[in-house]
Amino acid sequence: MAKQNSFSLKFDTDWQYAPAPESTDHVEIKDRYDLFIGGKFVKPSSNKYFKTINPATEEPIAEIAEANEKDVDSAVKAARKAFPKWSSLAAKERGKYIYRIARLIQERAREFSVIESIDGGKPIRESRDIDIPLAAAHFFYYAGWADKLEYAFPNRKVEPLGVAGQIIPWNFPLLMAAWKIAPALACGNCVVLKPAETTSLTALKLAELIQDAGLPEGVVNIVTGAGKTGAAIVNHKDVDKIAFTGSTEVGKMIQKAVAGTGKKTTLELGGKAANIIFEDAPIDQAVEGIINGIFFNQGHVCCAGSRLFIQESIKEEVEQKLKARLETLIVGDPLDKNTDVGAINSKEQLDSIEKYLKIGKAEGLESFQANVTVPKKGYFCKPTLFFNVAQSSRLAQEEIFGPILAIQSFRTVDEVIEKANNTPYGLSAGVWSDKGSKAFNLSSQLKAGVIWANTFNKFDPTSPFGGYKESGHGREGGMHGLEAYLKIS
Ligand code: ADP
Repeated sequence: MAKQNSFSLKFDTDWQYAPAPESTDHVEIKDRYDLFIGGKFVKPSSNKYFKTINPATEEPIAEIAEANEKDVDSAVKAARKAFPKWSSLAAKERGKYIYRIARLIQERAREFSVIESIDGGKPIRESRDIDIPLAAAHFFYYAGWADKLEYAFPNRKVEPLGVAGQIIPWNFPLLMAAWKIAPALACGNCVVLKPAETTSLTALKLAELIQDAGLPEGVVNIVTGAGKTGAAIVNHKDVDKIAFTGSTEVGKMIQKAVAGTGKKTTLELGGKAANIIFEDAPIDQAVEGIINGIFFNQGHVCCAGSRLFIQESIKEEVEQKLKARLETLIVGDPLDKNTDVGAINSKEQLDSIEKYLKIGKAEGLESFQANVTVPKKGYFCKPTLFFNVAQSSRLAQEEIFGPILAIQSFRTVDEVIEKANNTPYGLSAGVWSDKGSKAFNLSSQLKAGVIWANTFNKFDPTSPFGGYKESGHGREGGMHGLEAYLKIS
């Protein structure tokens, strides 16, 4: 029998999983998508379209309309026109519409999952088991709040804000649309939503579904395009609120643009989460959590556990186990049900991640990459670990938004709190320990909006999510998520 290191998890076998591709027969994707304004699909006034690419094959999937200021204005006007009726509709009836959207997402979950994976590159296992069910869950959850707002805020008067402009990123396309649209509608607002330019398809599918749900015209409008389209929403005079999820850089621009206009904002921006593992932690469970924390969705997660802090006494053991686990990750076709790590969302993002691989090398950091073969075509990146990363390293300071983990170590609780908080971000953190008191102590001292104990990347519509510092402000999810769409007096 081969002699094995006591920390080794290597399987003594050459077995490989056979391909298990998800079927795509049930999926209908049009060649070209127009803008969804006032309940109808309309051509963009410039007649300009751009291509959306499958990042796993580099093949174009469909053409997407590019909305300019004029189109954004039409969408805002449609939302404004729909607002009086929608906001005065019996709350119970509003709830029914939202509930219907949730049910329809569930019914079409397979189609949405496949499209999400084709358009964005994420493994089908994730879109099928996480993104799409959670999107439906958000609509279900907020459908329930629609007629209970007075109980959420007792003895207060609550009113909708009016028209909400909502701009979302490419990492969780349908889920982010649900996070934005569901609470806004429950509170009686109308919306103009813009998906990210590389992942517009599931939002446009949602527009079709909203038509099928019979939602009154103009309550939800979906305009597609890049940053310019987003800026047109932000700068539109008749928008009452901007809800944005994306980079800190664009978040700052939005905050400046709306200063003095009276527009309300919620900004959910970047992150550089500390995932902290103590010597008393359940090690194998923690290793799974660390892997999930950074490699889930190729690391395209604002709350990803991208900085790992290991207590020195277990450093060697945890690092060995992480290396062994990395070797078992399956990187490749997002539509294969066995895939753990899919395609990087775009060429631009892959270039940005590769820049950080070079920075790590230039800094002379020891690294480890899984010995996996990645497909020749498409945008793929091997899961990577960097060891003994200095606090000052760019790998520890900057958000990479890719499958790269920066590993650091610590000796004492005070030291790790100091190091974990030494970042401009404050979105999430994770603590792995057998001691509840330690987890509670850290959760009160870490400057992060969400702190997970002995788990990571767990989401639920009932739980508020949002950041501190350069990770933004405002909360989405839970009862807190209602506040973002209400005038409360
Ligand atoms: P990332 O760097 O992750 O692509 P961005 O912040 O650039 O994140 O993009 C998030 C969303 O913001 C996308 O829908 C994008 O089109 C939009 N966006 C980009 N620039 C602007 C801008 N200047 N104003 C408003 N929205 C923008």
